[in-house]
Amino acid sequence: MIERKGREFRRALISLGLIGLVLLQNDAAFAWGSEGHTYVNRVAAEKIPASMPLFLRQAVGEIAYLGPEPDRWRSPSEFALKNSQEPDHYIDLERVSWLDPLPAGRYEFYRKLYEKRASTTDHPDDFLPEHVGLQPYITMEVYGRLKAAFREYRQRQATHQPTLAVQHAIIFYAGWLGHYVGDGSQPLHTTIYYNGWFGANPNGYTTQHGIHAQFETAYVAANITAKDFAGLVKKPERLDDPFARYVAYLRESNRLVENVYQLDKAGGFAGKGSPAAFDFTTKRLAAASQMLLDLWYTAWLESAVSVPAEHPASPAMAPSTK
Ligand SMILES: [Zn+2]
Repeated sequence: MIERKGREFRRALISLGLIGLVLLQNDAAFAWGSEGHTYVNRVAAEKIPASMPLFLRQAVGEIAYLGPEPDRWRSPSEFALKNSQEPDHYIDLERVSWLDPLPAGRYEFYRKLYEKRASTTDHPDDFLPEHVGLQPYITMEVYGRLKAAFREYRQRQATHQPTLAVQHAIIFYAGWLGHYVGDGSQPLHTTIYYNGWFGANPNGYTTQHGIHAQFETAYVAANITAKDFAGLVKKPERLDDPFARYVAYLRESNRLVENVYQLDKAGGFAGKGSPAAFDFTTKRLAAASQMLLDLWYTAWLESAVSVPAEHPASPAMAPSTK
């Protein structure tokens, strides 16, 4: 009896824990929710031009599935994974307004932030990399993986070797990349005001937590489908400097933060929402699909450029190269 009671108690605790997990997850910032991320990837994949490999154009379903993939890595049951990758989904650009342009590599970014933290007395931990967010870095790192895989694909094709394995890798990288590009178009993923206004508030914006999920998940799921914005996405463009263009894209999202709060204040994201909210949201989703398509296209074209066969470590890097 005691044993049974104990078991029931444990079961009740587990149930409570599960409820807690669900609540926690609902509260977390999952940009665009599952629907929005799937749409962003699907719309971009449907626009892949005929000049890119056929297998990729035929992988629309897989690429769409992968849109929400990094949000599947946020469960406390895989703590190390959750812990390591949560800062990848956002960047609080206000915290790095003094750092323009952003350095191209994550470790130089870390170094600048730690220098800033050391010289700051007011909330120095605000400058920890994991508090600022690493959005543009993970994006360019996955972009690099995609480009390297495209290069491998070209080489294997040229030498008549099997390409099936590298095709799978390319589809995965292309879909994975779409998640971060999708996050980057959501203004609340580029700001300290990611889930409610704080501090001086002359315009009376909401200070409640909840605007984030209401906008990107509840409103989108109830009111928008992929076909609502597919027509806004044009043919891809080769990006001359992908990192600079991507940072500019994030800064544009950041400029639109107050628009989200204004639309929310006017009730734009409640229930069926408003025409203005629909227009704004479909344009942001289209901006994501466009940037994603442009990055895929650029990675494909750049992968044709041969790279040196050897990459000797520079003297400064040698000690850490193991
Ligand atoms: Zn995300």
